[in-house]
Amino acid sequence: EWLSNRIAAGEVVERPASVVKELVENAIDAQSTVIEIDVEEAGLQKIHVIDNGTGIEADDVELAFSRHATSKIKNEHDLFRIRSLGFRGEALPSIASVARVEIVTSTGEGPGIKAIIEGGKWLSHETAPSRKGTEMTVTDLFFNTPARLKYMKSIHTELGNITDVVNRLALAHPEVSIRLRHGGKMLLQTNGNGDVRQVLAAIYGVNIAKKMIPIHAETLDFELNGYIALPEITRASRNYISTMVNGRFIKNYPLAKAILEGYHTLLPIGRYPIALLSVRMDPVLVDANVHPAKLEVRLSKEKELCQIISETIKAAFKKQEL
Ligand code: ADP
Ligand code: MG
Repeated sequence: EWLSNRIAAGEVVERPASVVKELVENAIDAQSTVIEIDVEEAGLQKIHVIDNGTGIEADDVELAFSRHATSKIKNEHDLFRIRSLGFRGEALPSIASVARVEIVTSTGEGPGIKAIIEGGKWLSHETAPSRKGTEMTVTDLFFNTPARLKYMKSIHTELGNITDVVNRLALAHPEVSIRLRHGGKMLLQTNGNGDVRQVLAAIYGVNIAKKMIPIHAETLDFELNGYIALPEITRASRNYISTMVNGRFIKNYPLAKAILEGYHTLLPIGRYPIALLSVRMDPVLVDANVHPAKLEVRLSKEKELCQIISETIKAAFKKQEL
């Protein structure tokens, strides 16, 4: 089982940012309202996530670290139907198979538990204070998979990946207060008041957030919501265009292209907008039969959706001119 965990780890835990993503998603799934993330050396030295969610019953902690032990739903095809972010029960065993993990968790009723799992082995456990929530400390990431370590890029790049992951989760969950620090330095702090614009301001700064206009459209099949920066605010890469379907960030080239078309001739060549687009649609129209970590999805009625997107953006800019 330890070997299959390590194989699965290759899929789930590609780099420090994947660990951060899985831990923060778990905290969100556990109904946390405050999540604090601290990383050292872009997560290679330490990833610490503390939440105020439901916690895990002491008796269930060992189970949570065994393969396919999800307390959520199990069917991959239901990915876009379910509300929780996790669904395969692979993250914790995968992470614990390639790192040292310390967990302190409590449901707030009775004593909590503190346990240490290293390289997939359950090392120790003891009772802990009953602060409601979960605290995960991941150290020595990839200590037993040197090939993976070698594959890591610079601290700068890995930290960039972590920031991207956390920014996106913060945008998708404005109702959760999320704080990210690296080496003690504050990189993101959202207040959890539910307002996406507040998260945009935390990420891009107040001045840019002010120049992002809301977009909204509803048809029988789709509901669109988002914020699009005025064409005067551009970036040199496409990375600032984010698309979400039913609350999950996805990669879908036609959707990004439709956003660009919405700007029509307004964008200088080689410049790209900052845009956040969230689409709600019937999960039946979403083909989730793809690698869950990458989330390149296919959508039925994609052409129709793309047309609505570019028209909605065009109309929003027109309205802005008046
Ligand atoms: P999944 O998220 O796919 O269910 P994971 O391996 O990520 O699988 O987590 C296993 C289980 O551990 C979860 O289903 C959940 O019950 C529990 N768990 C993990 N992290 C937390 C957390 N921060 N708070 C509460 N429960 C958690
Ligand atoms: Mg999970």
